[in-house]
Amino acid sequence: MTSKETRNQFLNFFKEKSHKIVPSAPMVIKDDPTLMFTNAGMNQFKEYFLGNTVPKSTRVVDTQKCLRVSGKHNDLEEVGKDTYHHTMFEMLGNWSFGDYFKEEAIAWAWEFLTSVCKVDPNSLYVSVFEGSEDADNLKMDDEAFGLWKAIVPEDRIIMGNKKDNFWEMGDQGPCGPCSEIHVDIRTPEEKAKVSGASLVNKDHPQVVEIWNLVFMQYNRKANGDLEPLPAKHVDTGMGFERLCTVLQGVQSNYDTDVFTPIIREIETIVNGKNRQNETKYGQDPEIDIAIRVIADHIRAVAFSIADGQLPSNTGAGYVIRRILRRAVRYGFTFLNTKEPFMYRLVTVLVNTMGSAYPELKEQRQLIENVVKEEEYSFLNTLDQGLVLLDSIINSTKGKEVDGRKAFELYDTYGFPIDLTALILGEKGYTLDEKGFETAMQAQKNRSKSASAVSKTDWTILSDDVEQEFVGYDMLNANVKLVKYRKV
Ligand code: ATP
Ligand code: MG
Ligand code: MG
Ligand code: MG
Repeated sequence: MTSKETRNQFLNFFKEKSHKIVPSAPMVIKDDPTLMFTNAGMNQFKEYFLGNTVPKSTRVVDTQKCLRVSGKHNDLEEVGKDTYHHTMFEMLGNWSFGDYFKEEAIAWAWEFLTSVCKVDPNSLYVSVFEGSEDADNLKMDDEAFGLWKAIVPEDRIIMGNKKDNFWEMGDQGPCGPCSEIHVDIRTPEEKAKVSGASLVNKDHPQVVEIWNLVFMQYNRKANGDLEPLPAKHVDTGMGFERLCTVLQGVQSNYDTDVFTPIIREIETIVNGKNRQNETKYGQDPEIDIAIRVIADHIRAVAFSIADGQLPSNTGAGYVIRRILRRAVRYGFTFLNTKEPFMYRLVTVLVNTMGSAYPELKEQRQLIENVVKEEEYSFLNTLDQGLVLLDSIINSTKGKEVDGRKAFELYDTYGFPIDLTALILGEKGYTLDEKGFETAMQAQKNRSKSASAVSKTDWTILSDDVEQEFVGYDMLNANVKLVKYRKV
């Protein structure tokens, strides 16, 4: 089954169960100071769960563009090293806002996977909240346990602790137990080596969590107490790329049609006219990680730009810049890409995802231009920066590299701190992050006096800084901002 069919099948299954199909919210969040990027399907429905807004439909289904690279959900370090965590991914979800509850949510999840998608029930495990002995003193979710017991053998139901199986929106607000569904995607040979009902993906990388069914039944009050919610809600999230892996009978998200066209294009670009010693995915673990990182990161970057978030030096823009630079360095070091190349992947991405996400198609030219520019500017300094990093390492006694040196790399060569830490990690070194922070703070203090003073519509630099006019920026119809930069 193609990924396109899988996406439609999910949406249509729940549509037939009276759910309204709604579009994905933007991945880049502009109006919430507490969250830069959408990291779960529920974000856009937060106000419904809090009871601040009344939903038009009480049953909704969607696929949500998510990015997990900052805050509580940061999967960046996993990406490329494993085959099922991405920076940007799609989360399929069905929702009940005070409508159905556990019985339907569990029955439909099972029906969708086993009857519609024909997943072998013997490859599925489910988890249930075991209760807690802390101040909340919650009892086990025996309602969910009973519902699952009617469907799956008891030895496939795994008890989960509060960390994995109790969901909370924040310090206050709706919360409740959840049930996860895990799929065993191991080959028969691998299965023969280890077996047992305790297998969840903590124990084996190929027994993967695909779906999380959250049952919001409590409200956490300001004093920490829990009270039952008057209207109970269901919030589910299923990893679309992981589902495709299961349904396409492969063992890695990167072997599904979501990623293979991008990976083939990376190979084509890397090999150029070289017909001897061709680089191919699946032959060398180090090269494979680099290819996976690049295939992953171009999606995160392209979707962000399509949402209007350009790379920059602060906030969400810097997150995007860091991701892009990370990918460029993986290419440079492991695939020998010395010229901009990521922008050339945009066409393939648009071909595979442009019909589900028209914004990609519409913004294609902008995405290509911005990515190419970013690549050029980082490649200008990357080579020299890597040489400097090598010499820093050579002069380091012990295994910890001076944070002030990492600051120089950041300041002069544009190396994000996490990139420096990543490269050092590859070479068996660690970074003195405190030293970096101190150097960063010192620079901020130095530049404060010379920095921009904001006076209403204008950004004015103090007199002692030489200026070069770089253009007008129309932020909105009334505000004209003249930008200067230090020269
Ligand atoms: P995991 O334990 O694998 O990190 P999670 O428990 O953090 O997943 P949830 O917050 O429960 O994930 O999100 C719901 C679903 O979204 C998961 O069951 C999984 O299928 C998918 N998912 C979560 N994080 C990622 C990611 N980084 N890349 C791809 N899919 C993901
Ligand atoms: Mg996670
Ligand atoms: Mg999990
Ligand atoms: Mg989960």
